[in-house]
Amino acid sequence: MLSPILSRAECAKCKMCCIFDSYDLWETPYITRELAAKIIQEIKPDQQFVKKEDHFLLKMEKEKDADLYYCPLLDQEKGCILGDEKPFDCLIWPFRIMHLGSKRVITLSPVCPNISERSVKAVREMAEQISDRIFEYADENPDAVKPYIEGYPIIIVEKDKFKSTLL
Ligand code: SF4
Repeated sequence: MLSPILSRAECAKCKMCCIFDSYDLWETPYITRELAAKIIQEIKPDQQFVKKEDHFLLKMEKEKDADLYYCPLLDQEKGCILGDEKPFDCLIWPFRIMHLGSKRVITLSPVCPNISERSVKAVREMAEQISDRIFEYADENPDAVKPYIEGYPIIIVEKDKFKSTLL
């Protein structure tokens, strides 16, 4: 979804968003019921999930000698085995949808090394292009909206049916 500003080749080389530590396990992707069923039936029958109220998280194992968790759907050579069926969280990363008080905001993860090389203008324009889809997804999957985390730059604030761009 972000191919206008992040190339597939850059993401395939980096894989930063598919590796977690114990501090950012909250970033593991929100898996809808439909996607969980598809993963088990068509892609990885042995995948295990952590069940949440109305969605799932991927069960991940900690590396033996490091505080690291590799997404089990990451193929080190080929990248994500889901291809175009990636979870929405992964399609929009490093953008995140968060709650800030009574508002929802689109923020930018500060850890993506590639997007930090893009101009503020390019990042803002990209966020504006996909913001309606992000807010619609959040309407359909309210539990996918994370609490705001200090330090995440806010790019778009939802304002009733209108958006305000901050960055
Ligand atoms: S689902 Fe795919 S894109 Fe998302 S974290 Fe796992 S390997 Fe990466």
